[in-house]
Amino acid sequence: PARPEAARETASLLSEPARVAVLLPLPLGELYEYAVPEGMEPPAPGTICSVPLGKRFLPGVVWDRPEGLPEIAASRLKPLAALYPVPPMAAPLRKLIDWVAAYTLSPPGAVLRMGLSVPDALEEPASLSRVRLSRLGGEGAMTAARKKVLAVLEEEADAMAPADLARAAGVSPSVVAGLVKTGWLEPLTLSADTGDAPDYQWREAEFSGDQQAAADHLGGQVRAGGFAVTLLDGVTGSGKTEVYFAAIAAALAAGKQALVLLPEIALSTQWLHRFRKRFGAEPLVWHSHLTPAARRKSWRRVALGQAPVVVGARSALFLPLQNLGLIVVDEEHEASFKQEDGVLYNARDMAVVRARLEQIPILLASATPSLETVANVEAGRFHCTALPERHGVAALPEIAAIDLRRSPPPRGAFLSIPLRDAITETLAKGEQAMLFLNRRGYAPLTLCRTCGFRFECPHCSAWLVEHRGRGRLLCHHCGHSQPVPHACPSCGTEDALVPCGPGVERVAEEAAALFPDARLAIMASDLLSSADAMKKLITEVQDRQIDLLVGTQMMAKGHHFPHLTLVGIVDADLGLAGGDLRAGERTFQVLHQVAGRAGRAEHPGRVLMQTLQPEHPVIAALLAGDRDRFLAAEMADRRAHGMPPFGRLAAIILSAPSPELAEQSARRLARLAPTDPDVTILGPAPAPLSMLRGMYRWRFLIKTPREKLPQPLLRAWLARADLPKTVKLAVDIDPYSF
Ligand code: ADP
Ligand code: ZN
Repeated sequence: PARPEAARETASLLSEPARVAVLLPLPLGELYEYAVPEGMEPPAPGTICSVPLGKRFLPGVVWDRPEGLPEIAASRLKPLAALYPVPPMAAPLRKLIDWVAAYTLSPPGAVLRMGLSVPDALEEPASLSRVRLSRLGGEGAMTAARKKVLAVLEEEADAMAPADLARAAGVSPSVVAGLVKTGWLEPLTLSADTGDAPDYQWREAEFSGDQQAAADHLGGQVRAGGFAVTLLDGVTGSGKTEVYFAAIAAALAAGKQALVLLPEIALSTQWLHRFRKRFGAEPLVWHSHLTPAARRKSWRRVALGQAPVVVGARSALFLPLQNLGLIVVDEEHEASFKQEDGVLYNARDMAVVRARLEQIPILLASATPSLETVANVEAGRFHCTALPERHGVAALPEIAAIDLRRSPPPRGAFLSIPLRDAITETLAKGEQAMLFLNRRGYAPLTLCRTCGFRFECPHCSAWLVEHRGRGRLLCHHCGHSQPVPHACPSCGTEDALVPCGPGVERVAEEAAALFPDARLAIMASDLLSSADAMKKLITEVQDRQIDLLVGTQMMAKGHHFPHLTLVGIVDADLGLAGGDLRAGERTFQVLHQVAGRAGRAEHPGRVLMQTLQPEHPVIAALLAGDRDRFLAAEMADRRAHGMPPFGRLAAIILSAPSPELAEQSARRLARLAPTDPDVTILGPAPAPLSMLRGMYRWRFLIKTPREKLPQPLLRAWLARADLPKTVKLAVDIDPYSF
């Protein structure tokens, strides 16, 4: 008997056009179907094509046809418009897109949009198209203008850009276009518009024993291929970067590509400089601040296989690398790998998924690994290779607390006497000092001394933060900004407004008054308008043109300042308040990173932490330099409460334009909640930021055991929710903070 699918194939060959399923980069759930135009081979999955949708044309990707996709009538099928001259999207990347969509409960098209983020990169750039004489001749009348064009080309004996050709022949560009249409000229497709791949010359570092062992382990994994996850666990300054550079070199030597994900702020000139030093050429850089032209060019280079090493922020994960041999996620514990709008995904976790789909090794590097990663190492799912010592003569800094209960700063000030003395000593030795406070602006709260009025954001449940440099009050959540008035808006009293608490600008003001001879700079994202400004400041610090640096967590990461020997932490307790699951972990990580900036060369470093609670487990662990004790305590706590990494968490955030609608909708959703003995549903309750950008927010937290994925239950629950259109639901799987 004939195979049914063969019969169907024959039937469709006879009667109907072939059809393909296409995924469009839109936040839609479904695949679209298109007819393959007559005479075209049905394009393979992954082919990038242009398709009509309504009145416009969109790029899309031919997708594997899922089981049970309902077929639409052939008569209603529109044809594919064109195929783009770029290599198809490879199967592992397509699978990753489907995987991320299913895991985050996002429409696959919304995930594809991150991978197809530069639609105009799909076209050959117009300035690079060329035409040459067709050997077969053409049709149609030969006018004088046309003759001139052909004469120029004959003389040139080479292909020319249409615009140049028209100019040289003194005719309008339409004449050249006409000659192409009638066949006298033939268009030439140049794919070399992006230039050649860089020529990397690997210059090996001289490794210590531990470094060599780690590099050998990773190099072996890269050469063997296959999926494996390794934590590169090394103290700050131990040479993690140098070691993973060696693993990248191993991938290149094997003819493979490498992808490095870095937190955005760490994508610094220093990193690139070190890369250039080892490899003799630049990697391809990818992040959200590239100009449109640079994005376009970079995307094409990647798609055309001209980028052996790509380094980027989280969105680089979705670049169409075809021949990956290694993924590195540096500072794997960083919060900025979690995307907090649109598709809510953690690029570190999804990088592990991509590595599995690509069947390649992946390396997670950190001095303060996340609890998730530590748990994976302990369970034997991840390998671990350690670098316990700093490179060269540099020793780890000494960390001490300044107990603010015993040494409070003078009234109205934020720097205690012991910290001031330490700064004085450091500067006297000609060394640099750094003051860390993880809060932008001048003061986190402004209030009226007369009536108690406090400035609050009109759109968010948050105080406005004064930014004195700009003379404005800003909302750090929605960007709302207003001038600082002279009189209180509530009682009208003049000059009664007072700043409460410190931000970096205020600490810098105090430091400038105390150390008038020191050259001082502030490092905070809002004060460094561009990557160039940041670059300039880092160079100034390296060249010792700055003595005292005051900054936010922007300066915590990756920087290597050899003359910096004192780090003062203005408020070590800042991140510990509040009920956030990760408050302790995050505070430990950031303070440890900041501390790691001190004493990275021959001069020993010192760290002073101002705190009101030196006995707090996080502060005590930092003081004892005992990361593992902190991890063990935190791990035990999480295990006892079934919290991640020992259980799974998801959040549903419901937002509505009015408080009543938000609450009613949350209660309605609560009545539909699934009952499952394994699943704990907390809430609904007003979300921590109960108003954000004018929307009122309620939240559910869903807790499941590790073995039970919450997605099926959430999908079923939300499918039953029948809420007004103005009510928005967002699902956050593995929420980072709450
Ligand atoms: P980490 O990433 O662990 O903080 P880095 O890779 O930044 O450490 O190394 C710290 C400093 O030591 C850098 O300036 C780096 O170039 C240098 N370094 C580390 N290992 C070596 C080595 N084997 N040879 C030469 N310099 C090294
Ligand atoms: Zn706001």
